Amino acid sequence: MRLSKMHIKTLREVPAEAEIPSHVLLLRTGMIRKLASGIYGFMPFGWRSVRKIEDIIRQEMDAAGGQEIHMSAIQPAELWQESGRWFAYGPELWRVKDRNGRDFCLGPTHEEIFTDIIRNDVSSYRQLPMNLYQIQTKYRDEARPRFGLMRSREFIMKDAYSFDRDFEGLDKSYQDMYEAYEKIFTRCGLTFRPVEADTGAIGGSNSHEFTALSEVGESEIAYCEKCSMAATVERAECVDDAAESEEMLSMEEVYTPGTKTIDEVAAYLHMDKKKTIKALLFVKYDEEGKENGYVAVFIRGDRELNMTKLVNALGIPEHAIQFAEEAAMSAATGCVGGFTGPVGLHDCLIVVDSELEGQKNMCAGANKPDHHVKNVNYGRDYKGDIVADLKLLKEGDPCPVCGAAVKHARGIEVGQVFKLGTKYSQAMNAIYKDENQKDQLIVMGCYGIGVTRTLAAVVEQHHDENGIIWPVSVAPYHVIVTLVNTKEAEQVRIAEEIYKSLTDQGIEVLLDDRDERAGVKFKDADLLGIPVRITVGKKVSEGLVEYKLRRDKDKMDLTIQEAVNKAVQIVRTEK
Ligand code: ATP
Ligand code: MG
Repeated sequence: MRLSKMHIKTLREVPAEAEIPSHVLLLRTGMIRKLASGIYGFMPFGWRSVRKIEDIIRQEMDAAGGQEIHMSAIQPAELWQESGRWFAYGPELWRVKDRNGRDFCLGPTHEEIFTDIIRNDVSSYRQLPMNLYQIQTKYRDEARPRFGLMRSREFIMKDAYSFDRDFEGLDKSYQDMYEAYEKIFTRCGLTFRPVEADTGAIGGSNSHEFTALSEVGESEIAYCEKCSMAATVERAECVDDAAESEEMLSMEEVYTPGTKTIDEVAAYLHMDKKKTIKALLFVKYDEEGKENGYVAVFIRGDRELNMTKLVNALGIPEHAIQFAEEAAMSAATGCVGGFTGPVGLHDCLIVVDSELEGQKNMCAGANKPDHHVKNVNYGRDYKGDIVADLKLLKEGDPCPVCGAAVKHARGIEVGQVFKLGTKYSQAMNAIYKDENQKDQLIVMGCYGIGVTRTLAAVVEQHHDENGIIWPVSVAPYHVIVTLVNTKEAEQVRIAEEIYKSLTDQGIEVLLDDRDERAGVKFKDADLLGIPVRITVGKKVSEGLVEYKLRRDKDKMDLTIQEAVNKAVQIVRTEK
């Protein structure tokens, strides 16, 4: 492609909302174009890289036995009502009506649609296992679209679904996909880590997220250097501190004026925060959006609540619970903002972190303004309607597997695999007949990759202050031939010759034949991040051109043939 003919518009200034390098660079290179909040289009360079990622995914999915299909993005509400997710998916589900008032949604994911296909098409065990996938545009009306392609409202996803006769079959399908994902992300040039994950709105039992390591990532992962434990912090189990053997003392109400926070009350009473109980107050909502009961959560004062663990313990979706309005909850349950404790609360669900069961003589709110109670003990003074691990695993806490201090890292979730089991086949009656003509539920798995988010993650991991540094595998073009002076016939001739020779060998080449200063051309080449640059300048008179890799500092003067051969070789090995 000749750059002079190409539709390209690089930007000097990017909008202030672009905060992270991938967002800035994808806009500056003109690869993506914003249409509305969280909604982007792709210009020629951007689209070429998207297609490269898609091709890698296709090759590895096909090699793992997947069959590509393509379903509509728009989905009838009935299927979502059948699975129970018309409610569970919440406000992220982009709902639309047709002219007759019928409900549809723009698909955020396709479990219902694929389950529907299979229940219609599969009747016998002989047709299983099966793996179907598609690469398609998805819609999620995200609360906070941001970071460009990272969290957008319209994005491209590869979603695959496996259908097996039993859980053993699912284990195999899951393992195959896990391995395919490792190959895909490696080929895309990402440094990543598979970690155990929560199953969220998708449901099911086991799950792994593939996290591209990056400081700007929105996923926080906990991992252990001593053993192989690695999980998202939402998922990571916490070890309860050992039960205390102190003797239980009698409860004692104390005056603690103005001490609304754990820090304040611990300081006022000269007490370790570990001896206090923290209260968090919530209200639940039902399917119609009406209030559906109060929830008081208690954990040790030095701990943080893990919202994912809480909604899992309650068995409700995350959007069906919010912080309670203090005055209303106080009137209904007897709690007092800043002074709430578990003793004497009424008319609300009491959820207690498992660690508190073993802690003795704790200090909690007295449900009375400016007062706390000392020596509160689980079992004797209060009980939980639900007791579960509700804690957030912090850096330095003991590893739930081996006890060593855990570390935290940030990353970008580029893919996730789930063992769904029979969640959807049960809800939607997807069955097959086994060897004995008995009906059995189909056992499912699902596997997503954020294609456009992967593109952003690659840029996030491969850039410097001058621009993108594409890995060859996903670069929009492999080689850029920079023609220094378009008025020098010899330079033009050699540049054209190199361009033709590389193109004939299957290399994707850009010829920068624009009538621009050399400095501008070098800047743009660096910004665009094309892996190999061959510069045709004054030295052609000695039969030499300059060869440079975007990722290296060094330049080399090579003969034309040497430069061409070197470029072909690197592209072929790294493609
Ligand atoms: P997140 O936790 O980041 O919201 P998710 O767990 O809801 O993502 P999945 O349902 O697992 O996402 O979707 C599969 C893949 O689609 C994700 O691993 C991610 O790469 C991509 N993805 C999800 N939401 C978005 C989004 N808003 N913009 C771009 N890609 C997304
Ligand atoms: Mg996910």
